[in-house]
Amino acid sequence: MMDPSNLPLGRRVMGMIEALARHTDEPGRITRLYLSPSHRQAAETTLGFMQAAGLDAHIDALGSVIGRLEGSNPDAPALIIGSHIDSVVDAGAYDGNLGVVLAIVAVEALRAQGIVPSCPIEVVAFGDEENVRFPTNLSTSYALAGRFNPAWLDGRDRDGVSLREALARFGGSPDGIEALARNPARYRGYLEVHIEQGPQLEAGDLPVGIVSAINGITRARATIVGEAGHAGTVPMKMRRDALAALAEMVGIVERAGSTRTDTVATVGVAQVQPGAVNVIPARVDFTLDARAPDDAVRHALVRDIVAECEAAAQRRGVDFTIEPFMESPATPMDKDLIARLEDAVRSAGVEPLRLASGAGHDAVAMANLCPSAMLFVRCKGGISHNPAESITLEDADMAARVLIEAVRRIVA
Ligand SMILES: [Zn+2]
Repeated sequence: MMDPSNLPLGRRVMGMIEALARHTDEPGRITRLYLSPSHRQAAETTLGFMQAAGLDAHIDALGSVIGRLEGSNPDAPALIIGSHIDSVVDAGAYDGNLGVVLAIVAVEALRAQGIVPSCPIEVVAFGDEENVRFPTNLSTSYALAGRFNPAWLDGRDRDGVSLREALARFGGSPDGIEALARNPARYRGYLEVHIEQGPQLEAGDLPVGIVSAINGITRARATIVGEAGHAGTVPMKMRRDALAALAEMVGIVERAGSTRTDTVATVGVAQVQPGAVNVIPARVDFTLDARAPDDAVRHALVRDIVAECEAAAQRRGVDFTIEPFMESPATPMDKDLIARLEDAVRSAGVEPLRLASGAGHDAVAMANLCPSAMLFVRCKGGISHNPAESITLEDADMAARVLIEAVRRIVA
């Protein structure tokens, strides 16, 4: 058995995560929104970690913390490793932070082993991954990929503060955003370690897994219109019950999402009208969220759902309309980087499992800049975006060893 006191990398990781978890906008729980005072504090702490690890580090114009270690060949395309330090409201300690501290620990370990990488390594702590405060989408990582949308600067938070104003208070600068865009020719890849935020690794008894793709998403609003009537007097055969139609459609969505590999489909919202105990429901407005690691599969999934719901509506004599309002393509991870991660996982004595990511990540944005790949770490119960989020010391240590080995193989 491994002696738990003998997991120095895991202990280092957990200590840094504890230090970051102290920075919060709300005492008693972790809430660290983009450009808030606690984000500034967490960025300063991260900056200190990076400098202590021997990185040449700074906080950039959008608040991301960037640290750079030069390689033996300064002209070789660089490897970027990172994740994010912003959080949702009442968050866990590991979402995002784990990937940032692991990147720093990996650089520390390489230097301690006397390994000089052939290419530069950049460590990044992004600030706007959760997109909770402003109506943005991965703005800090899209900036590196040269795809920052200037309209984001005028988006406002709940208190009416614009991103532009918040950036000025933070100490950032809109004028510096354009210069954040990296030249794709200068970067060989992006690696991100993240908690899984799902139950698959735990179910498979595996500490880590390799992301095959980040799921694409289709979201749609749908409406069923039937006819209201007296719940006591209208015979069952003569009804056009919109909620009964929805019940059938939810079954269709659940079945369609279950029949293909790695797809998920959810009805998350349903509003019933008129919503009275003695009235047959006349109208239901509901939402569909369908995800798949492959765009063609997702399109087929949505087509099947729509066709079957239309057929059900026809049989029941209700009107059915559906309107997509969001389309986000799938992001396949890079085959070569996946192979390096698999080698590193195998060399740690773990069976390499590939799994699709159901959640979005900074890697979606970074894949526009350079080949990207992700390593997932098992989290307890698959729980995240919740203070109960947790990983074990052993898994933190394993993730560190796998990342160090993968980086060593990439920058050798
Ligand atoms: Zn995250």
